[in-house]
Amino acid sequence: MASEKTACILCSRNCGLTVELDNGKFVKIQGDDQHPITKGYICQKAARLEYYQNHDDRLGQPLKRQADGSFAPISWDLALQEIAEKLNHVKQSYTGNAFAFVGGGGQGNHWGGMYSRQLLSAMNSRFIYTALAQEKTGDIWVNGRLFGNQTCHTTEDIEHADYVLFIGTNPFQAHGIVNSRDTLKALQKDPNRTMVVIDPRVSETAKMADIHLQLKPSTDAYLMLAMLAIIVREGRHDKGFLTIHCTGFDSIEKELLEIDIEDYAQRADVPLELVQKVARGFATAKNACVRVDLGTQHSLHTTLNAYLEKLLYLVTGNFAKKGGNNLHTSMIPLVSHTDERKKGIRTAKHKMFPIGGLYPPNILPDEINHSGEDRIRAVWVDSANPVLTYADSKAYTTAFQQLDLLVVVDVAMTETARLAHYILPAASQYEKVEASGFNLEFPENLFHLRHPLFPPFKEALPEPEIYTRLLEKMGILPTTFPVLTKIAALEPKITARLGYMAALKILFSRKPNLQKYGSSILYRTLGTTLPKNMEAAAPLLGLTLSYTHKYYEAVKKVVYKGNKRTLGNELFNAILANKSGVIISKHKFEDIWTFLKTPDKRIHLEIPEMISELRQLATEDLTNPDFPFILMAGERRSYNANQIYRDVAWRKTDPKGVMRMHPEDAQELDIANGDEVICQSNIGRITVFVEIDKSVRRKMVSLPNGYGSRFRNGEAIGPQLNMITPSSHCETFTKTPFHKYLPVKITKLIET
Ligand code: SF4
Repeated sequence: MASEKTACILCSRNCGLTVELDNGKFVKIQGDDQHPITKGYICQKAARLEYYQNHDDRLGQPLKRQADGSFAPISWDLALQEIAEKLNHVKQSYTGNAFAFVGGGGQGNHWGGMYSRQLLSAMNSRFIYTALAQEKTGDIWVNGRLFGNQTCHTTEDIEHADYVLFIGTNPFQAHGIVNSRDTLKALQKDPNRTMVVIDPRVSETAKMADIHLQLKPSTDAYLMLAMLAIIVREGRHDKGFLTIHCTGFDSIEKELLEIDIEDYAQRADVPLELVQKVARGFATAKNACVRVDLGTQHSLHTTLNAYLEKLLYLVTGNFAKKGGNNLHTSMIPLVSHTDERKKGIRTAKHKMFPIGGLYPPNILPDEINHSGEDRIRAVWVDSANPVLTYADSKAYTTAFQQLDLLVVVDVAMTETARLAHYILPAASQYEKVEASGFNLEFPENLFHLRHPLFPPFKEALPEPEIYTRLLEKMGILPTTFPVLTKIAALEPKITARLGYMAALKILFSRKPNLQKYGSSILYRTLGTTLPKNMEAAAPLLGLTLSYTHKYYEAVKKVVYKGNKRTLGNELFNAILANKSGVIISKHKFEDIWTFLKTPDKRIHLEIPEMISELRQLATEDLTNPDFPFILMAGERRSYNANQIYRDVAWRKTDPKGVMRMHPEDAQELDIANGDEVICQSNIGRITVFVEIDKSVRRKMVSLPNGYGSRFRNGEAIGPQLNMITPSSHCETFTKTPFHKYLPVKITKLIET
């Protein structure tokens, strides 16, 4: 039995794990005490990872769709040759606009993304559609305006905050913060600290809170505006901070002074005294921070919510300080910056622009069905299951059936894979070099490169090999780089690597087009000098050199060896050697001001689009008599996760994914606990089982995400939420779906 180090891949925390392996299986999974951030912490979900690693839907060989709709095995060589020819045909016949890439990552598999994105360049396409763009682009866009660039991202220092606002988030179940349950318990126990939860449901976190504001679904914007108005009207804003570090406060102040606080508290259905208490407590706390999640991001006013939660900590000066909200550095940037005013970046049908470089999945079916010559004709799906996890499953199914080419790269036979022309089996996250790009910590940041624990399943290949071979087949990449390979192999390693990077630079200056395929070139050349099975880690050298160049002093504090020339290589070695992950930098709080990308290094508070939207709130009317209930879709529970668990046996509780309903609503509709009911939106209906539960508000129901897979091509088990989520039910600006505010009708299922 072997003992190894790795990480959990079920949520963005990627807790460190110590695992025992036997005969290709996980036999014991525990927290890794050596992990620099999680230090042994895990939740109950990690213990079930064997259900991800070994199950009957694993793909073990490339498959090609036959004329009768069935799949037949095909060799890797032939599959990639045929796909390469078809992709080249699409590119030559219709330009890059005809190609879209979907997915390319997940909660813990970002390393493959370094390789897969090269395909977009090879296809001259910019169209990448990812889950981030159905959740976080409102936040990303606001960051771009406030801090000068969409790559700026804030984190929250909950462990050191005296006052914490959790808005639309249930970290006890959804995690997303450092060692969530321990952090929440510490907050709860300390009489000098205050935990406030703003959530329509009495969630597990709300039960631990000092104050719970159980607002009506999707009224967060009203509540936050009421709080901001109270703070400003009572002069509790941080005038010194605003004068020195921000511009545009005068315009914000003017708007806030106009807010009818009482009316807004009433719209949120929260007692005014409680709103005042929280606003005052937050503004006067020594350190305070705000944590939000999908509850505000999948709600009405997605982008405005992002703006307002940031104003809460900025107006009170809780930024760039211990216990506040802070910008942080990143080793792998997950998003880029895009200016929506740039020409030539909009989609054909919706004329949608990218945010952070990403396009929203809500519009993809329309971009495929579009009648124009500039429609999307070929789609490449990697590590994603859009048919099940993006809004409007039927629209996705119909659109994907229209495509000239659909290729799916995945570890499992998913609902999307069943529609593909070619299915390429990927090695699981424990069968290859992997890493998470969610290194979002401050002041100490971490990077965890995970080593393979098992050989790839049957003929499955890691993404670095799949994409490199494909680029070679497409004629984009030469198959050898003899000079680079020779220099990389020279001894001693450190000078050889520096010589290698210099030679690579020369190659890129001579052939600039090759720069876009740097990951594969590093893999094929420098990779040959790395330990066996670690070849795909080669692009890390480029990342560590760039990171140490940008943050030399901060890296120097944790990696003691090395000077300005060599520190990047030392960091590379440290990451490669340490299987539990390493701290890569240690910053000072004042460094945060250097992370700002605004030309004047100040935060630009005035965003005209947001001010215009907040003015419209006063007249909004949300009543909808045809669909009297609001479904909050995607509740996080003890045994739901992202869609990578396909075998329902992984769940210890809630096998059916029940719908929570308030007892009085159930009584009114003559529904008993455990009854099967129809949950119907304006595009479809699903049947679900009811759990009567007074944790939800009246006229609100709640369903979990992560259900509805058809394991072994059988019946879907649990709610297939996206059968009832219309893609048009989204924010006009970002196209983010309103999954937390879906008007539905509930009727008892009558057996006939
Ligand atoms: S699900 Fe999240 S919090 Fe739980 S062990 Fe995995 S990474 Fe950690």
